[in-house]
Amino acid sequence: MRAVYLDHAATTPVDPRVRRAMEPYLKSEYGNPSSLHRWGRRARMAIDAARETVAAALNADPAEICFVSSGTESCNLAVIGCALKAPPHRRHILVSAVEHHCVLHAAEWLVPFGYTVEQIPVDRYGQVDPDAVRARLRDETWLVSVMHANNEIGTLQTVEAIARLCKECGVWFHVDAVQTFGLLPVDVQAIGCDLLSVSAHKIYGPKGVGALYVRAMTPLQPLMVGGGQERDRRAGTENVAGIVGFAEAVKVAREMLPTEAERQTALRDQFIQAVLDAVPDAFLTGHPTERLPGNAHFRFTGVPADSLLIALDRAGIAASSGAACSAGSLEPSHVLLALGWHETAAQEGIRFTLGRDTTWDDLAYTVEVLRQEVARIRATRSPARPTAGGRVVSQRTPLR
Ligand code: PLP
Repeated sequence: MRAVYLDHAATTPVDPRVRRAMEPYLKSEYGNPSSLHRWGRRARMAIDAARETVAAALNADPAEICFVSSGTESCNLAVIGCALKAPPHRRHILVSAVEHHCVLHAAEWLVPFGYTVEQIPVDRYGQVDPDAVRARLRDETWLVSVMHANNEIGTLQTVEAIARLCKECGVWFHVDAVQTFGLLPVDVQAIGCDLLSVSAHKIYGPKGVGALYVRAMTPLQPLMVGGGQERDRRAGTENVAGIVGFAEAVKVAREMLPTEAERQTALRDQFIQAVLDAVPDAFLTGHPTERLPGNAHFRFTGVPADSLLIALDRAGIAASSGAACSAGSLEPSHVLLALGWHETAAQEGIRFTLGRDTTWDDLAYTVEVLRQEVARIRATRSPARPTAGGRVVSQRTPLR
């Protein structure tokens, strides 16, 4: 059967160059980087080199990079770790309504400890208006967290403007860049953030490794305690092979970035237009242009996402609904609800995310399967199929 993987925002395969770079650290180079002997020193040198690679890619100082176990841990450490340093009169936290659950749940985790968490609404494309942030900043605000790009609908945020606002008001600013790092330029100086999260497995690196950029002087309470690893910011013996693999993935991604972002953007636009032309009552979700290069998200009115995902899977196509971690649950997507969609509509969102190996041939096949399966599911559901009831979710957007 044909296999078309269009779920690269959930995860990516490990690049062979990454696998090769990791291999010695899974075989002969097994030293503990905290050990003083030569095995340990070699492992330490590998981590130091990886730290320099990740720091250079972010335009940061190596000392500002803290390796962690995942994008989730990175966001947890940023939100909870920074919030725990807030004085009692500064326990107000702002997060955008479309953040990944690793930010939203981290912020909610703080509430029983006396913190107030407020969500910043988004517009119908999923963008945060910096004025909406300004309107919610108070004397008590300690931390703002807004993602660089949304993992579901791909919308990019104007994080630079929000960073400027936070700086003016003396508020710490965290950016979840898990979906942009390696795909688009991510420069912590240009953005002006204090904390920024990245993850390896979204960029053809291994699962279970990520990093948090921590600008010098940013307050941060470690969440893992024990040894003094990662400059006392994250205790625990480092995942040496994972960190080495992450750095190799970063190198490859940096080389490919300029051409690959352009290639994926062109393919994505062609795919979006083809789907809108081929499938009746199909709507593009998110911003028509300010979106991740490889993200195409649609609503097919009257077609529950889970039914369509199963039909696509039978045809060998991997797509997704909602965030990868919550796929499988029938909960409507919090991101789509935040756009103002009603509950039924929010269960009809489907995400396709392109990768380095995606070809037009794969996408043309997907368009054809979608055309057939959307019609079949609609026909089996009811003759009185609901049309775009409730609020209009997004306009059919002509793309160039
Ligand atoms: N933040 C965003 C925007 C994501 O898309 C993800 C993963 O889907 C994460 C954080 C969590 O990253 P990880 O899977 O490395 O824990």
